[in-house]
Amino acid sequence: MSRKKRILSGMRPTGKLHLGNYVGALENWVKLQGEYDNFHLIADYHVLTTQTDTSQILENTLEMVADWIACGIDPDQSPVFRQSQIKEHAELHLLFSMLVTTARLERNPTLKEQAKDLNMDSLIYGHLGYPVLQSADILLYKGEVVPVGEDQAPHVEITREIARKFNTLYGEVFPIPQTKLAVIPRLPGLDGAKMSKSLNNTILVADSPDEVQQKVMRAITDPQKIRRNDPGHPEVCNVFTYHKQFNAQEVPQIEADCKSGVLGCVDCKKNCAKKISDTFAPYADKRNHLINHKSELLDIIADGEKRAGKVARETMEAVREVMKLG
Ligand code: ATP
Ligand code: MG
Repeated sequence: MSRKKRILSGMRPTGKLHLGNYVGALENWVKLQGEYDNFHLIADYHVLTTQTDTSQILENTLEMVADWIACGIDPDQSPVFRQSQIKEHAELHLLFSMLVTTARLERNPTLKEQAKDLNMDSLIYGHLGYPVLQSADILLYKGEVVPVGEDQAPHVEITREIARKFNTLYGEVFPIPQTKLAVIPRLPGLDGAKMSKSLNNTILVADSPDEVQQKVMRAITDPQKIRRNDPGHPEVCNVFTYHKQFNAQEVPQIEADCKSGVLGCVDCKKNCAKKISDTFAPYADKRNHLINHKSELLDIIADGEKRAGKVARETMEAVREVMKLG
């Protein structure tokens, strides 16, 4: 039997998980677990690119890992670990920073988009280097498949370039990783921009049914459908995208009824909110248990760091050997 391919994918502990994180990444992690050898990174260094206040990182880490596990990540199969606790991330990041030009990093569309979204007029060096650190995250574990949302695909492209360059210059150490996008690779937020922890436009995996309903009610729909019976344009409606993900069965009917004007936005939204809540209801108990037993979460992370650290050290030994460093 051939060896399982390795998945490396992570998230920034910047807040509770939202539906975009679930649809774009986590759902695929869970689906592929077993068929692949999964490693899941808590990207706490990457948090520092957008916030200098570190007081919430540990709390956010625990919330995020609780969501991962509640939604189906099995930490016995799939180590979960913090970037900051495995020093090899910083070391490989430094070596990779010599293999990519600043012009290449300035062309990164995700950088441009984030700069616009976050209203950042002066970018920091760490922001430019974000995909270089991400390349180290992926390649330290010889990640071959990277399930991420669309916003991260340009970073995997940079990772591929760095891996090729390293292998050509020094010897074949790294695989050339592939992006794995979800069916909906960019879930819109309530305002139509990318659903994002930093943009206050999210529905959270941990939201109660009431909270989900309140949020869906304020989602922007088709701006041309003003009165209940106006014919709608589902293709431009954010709520229709949520139906596609969480209520696939009813999509043809909803599409027809919206277009004909039979279905009004209020009823459509109530139905959508219920389907979203129903999807996540089975995860609530597990999540609440973990959040109330933080020592279990800390043990899980410590165990993941032991296992991931071993792989990271082996890769760095191979890197130093082919680079003739030491
Ligand atoms: P932040 O705003 O702090 O960057 P985020 O919401 O973008 O937070 P990340 O931790 O940066 O979340 O991303 C985690 C994973 O979720 C990545 O694979 C990313 O591509 C994916 N993701 C984030 N937002 C969406 C979205 N709206 N649709 C699909 N995938 C998404
Ligand atoms: Mg992000």
